[in-house]
Amino acid sequence: MTVAPVPALDSLAGLAFGDAFGDRWFGILRREGAEALEARTLPDEPVWRWTDDTAQALVLVRELAEGEGAVDQDRFARRLAEEYAADTHRGYGASMHDVLRRIGAGEPWHALVSAQFEGMGSWGNGAAMRVAPLGAWHAADLDTAMEQAARQSAVSHHHPEAAAGAVAVAVAA
Ligand SMILES: [Mg+2]
Repeated sequence: MTVAPVPALDSLAGLAFGDAFGDRWFGILRREGAEALEARTLPDEPVWRWTDDTAQALVLVRELAEGEGAVDQDRFARRLAEEYAADTHRGYGASMHDVLRRIGAGEPWHALVSAQFEGMGSWGNGAAMRVAPLGAWHAADLDTAMEQAARQSAVSHHHPEAAAGAVAVAVAA
């Protein structure tokens, strides 16, 4: 077990704040529609709730700590499923509910995620939304940042565009 470097923890904190800050506008969007956002309506409730972004970023940082900076895909898939089962109400996307429930039930992640969306795999933003701390962790070695960003992406998002998004966010971070 490695101690997470400070930049990775800072990135995790920033991700969690941004996640909870941004989530406050989802309620407005759902209740009042896009016009309310365009009219710059502010959220009235003071509660900031973190969502699946933060839940999965925490799992990823723990995974990097355990793997000395590298992602063990089988373990990471299992831990994402465990985190999901511990709290399913964090705003997971529809396809992730299905994938994480089935991984938790013991189905092999690779066959599952590669069969999604008629064999294309998900190209949602889920692999990118959790990856910034990994980029900060490997900031001194961008090749490793890119390689590990793609590795962590593959366990939930099979489509190459999802991996490309995750690599871009990791490198930007
Ligand atoms: Mg979210």
